[in-house]
Amino acid sequence: MKQLIYADNAATTQLNKVAFDAMVPWLLDEYGNASQPYAFARKPKKALAEARATIAECINALPEEIFFTSGGTESDNWAIKGSAFADAEKRATITSAFEHHAVLHSCEAIERLGYPVAYLMPTADGVITADALGSMISNTTHLVSVMFANNEIGTIQPIKELCDVAHSHGALFHTDAVQAIGHVKIDVQELRIDMLSASAHKFNGPKGIGFIYIRKGTNILPYADGGAQEHKHRAGTENIASIVGMATALKDNCTALSENASHVRALERQLLDALRNLRIPFVRNGGDNTLPGLISLSFRGADGEAILHRMDLMGISISTGSACDSVNTEVSHVLKAIQLEEKLAKGTIRISLGSKNTEKDVDCIVGALAKILR
Ligand code: PLP
Repeated sequence: MKQLIYADNAATTQLNKVAFDAMVPWLLDEYGNASQPYAFARKPKKALAEARATIAECINALPEEIFFTSGGTESDNWAIKGSAFADAEKRATITSAFEHHAVLHSCEAIERLGYPVAYLMPTADGVITADALGSMISNTTHLVSVMFANNEIGTIQPIKELCDVAHSHGALFHTDAVQAIGHVKIDVQELRIDMLSASAHKFNGPKGIGFIYIRKGTNILPYADGGAQEHKHRAGTENIASIVGMATALKDNCTALSENASHVRALERQLLDALRNLRIPFVRNGGDNTLPGLISLSFRGADGEAILHRMDLMGISISTGSACDSVNTEVSHVLKAIQLEEKLAKGTIRISLGSKNTEKDVDCIVGALAKILR
């Protein structure tokens, strides 16, 4: 049987075996509810505290600043809605036009309730500049939310500068770091981030689990009312196995961060050099400062959807940069926001390489692209 090649690590990643092994005991034997006061609950409670401390250490936060959620979507919803509803005086939110829909649709939801939202436009290179924020922000701004790195084109944002502008106007700063965490170094103290969203399945952890970092003292409403879990801010019995798996995966990724980054950067160079040597004309979206391994390529006049399907027939999984989702063939809001010419936007694909990919995978990807595009 033909070996399948997975090159869509920005969509999800393979579960780390060490994380999987760490999860098993909490699914089978240690199934006690961590909120209970007896012996059966003691080990899960300890595991929960250890996972919280491990995650906090990975981003230089305090354990009590980490709140477990069901993933990136929930964390983003919480940051946007929970902070908007917390301040009756300062009601305005600023975000960017090329955020993930978890942020954009949360912003649309608060707009429908009468909370003003303004949208920053990125440069053609996919960057939200501090100057753009400076000219939009005012003293009525409660929250600025700009993603750490864009999920379609990979551009890493100038988070420290954006935080400084937000803070100089008394606003909070949230970042959707779902694509970045575990792949680039993030220190919330150094960057002065107030809130950060993360999702385990993007850093080789399990699906359906994530966290939000909320700086101590931040004015935000609880996400879910009910039991006293997560400091009474997000009720519901904790998913210990997934939380332990997430903490293990994040620690593993953070330990191997530079090693993994140089591996995927080398593959990235191999891929781009091979395309150039084959004289296949392309535009790489997102300029120089992108996430390791995330490559958005536009081929003028080509059809990104058709490339994806032909690659799939050859056993290679990539993504398209031109559709909002698998049924919508509109040019994506991200490519629209960077004002990519339509002829390029329609011919855009996203290849996202991960630590498990090999030089041989890249040879096959290039070979497939050559067959399709030449
Ligand atoms: N934010 C970004 C930037 C993402 O790429 C994604 C997932 O693709 C999400 C949020 C949503 O995360 P989850 O799948 O954990 O809900």
